[in-house]
Amino acid sequence: MNTIDSTPSTGQTTGRIHSIETCGTVDGPGIRFVVFMQGCPLRCLYCHNPDCRDPHEGQLMTVEELVAEIGKTRNYLRKGGVTATGGEPLMQPQFVAELFRRCHQLGLHTALDTSGFVQLEAAKPVLEHTDLVLLDIKSYLPDLYYKVTHVPLEPTLNFARYLAQIHKPTWVRFVLVPGLTDPEENVKGLAEFVAQLPNVERVEVLPFHKMGEYKWEQLGLPYLLKDVEPPSPQQVAKVVQIFRDQGLKAS
Ligand code: SF4
Repeated sequence: MNTIDSTPSTGQTTGRIHSIETCGTVDGPGIRFVVFMQGCPLRCLYCHNPDCRDPHEGQLMTVEELVAEIGKTRNYLRKGGVTATGGEPLMQPQFVAELFRRCHQLGLHTALDTSGFVQLEAAKPVLEHTDLVLLDIKSYLPDLYYKVTHVPLEPTLNFARYLAQIHKPTWVRFVLVPGLTDPEENVKGLAEFVAQLPNVERVEVLPFHKMGEYKWEQLGLPYLLKDVEPPSPQQVAKVVQIFRDQGLKAS
């Protein structure tokens, strides 16, 4: 994966930001300031942020400008923190590393939401300033992973192994798409793999939804999951149980 960081002549690290959310509640613990970074090398069939994928789009912001925004809501973030998501935040590793370093100076918890399809060496400086990784593993069977994301699986598994090696607290996230990611051998394989990683604190099974479908239409892209319905509570519970059967804390 190529990175797209830039440091202009001002010397300030500049990033391409899709958007920010000041009171997020689903991307890590507590109330969070969520930064949606622009650019993503994956092409997930169910992507609900396809407008985050083009690395040339987004608004240019310096770390200073973003930290000033975070400062306005700092009091709400005491029991939460700051999450970088996207898009793929590790396409801009210098920016996110500097952002997280500044967040730590402010005493704020940092979470990195990533697909793990990254250059490990580029990611390491970011991980130094990351308290929690939200690792999205989109499937475990290599062919299925490729079908879902259009990139190979192995870099993500390598990244997961590295996180275990450095004892980085990690939550694994898996999107359940009926008829696509739900084959039992796919889920069971993932559960068995994750159960070997002692740094994984929990697994979140995220039900597929179609809230981003209109964005595909706006971008003139074909949305191949048009006829797929979100999973039922029973389907979700069945998959959660597969993770629990491996001794994992899952919900
Ligand atoms: S990793 Fe996230 S932003 Fe990138 S294509 Fe997949 S769902 Fe979309």
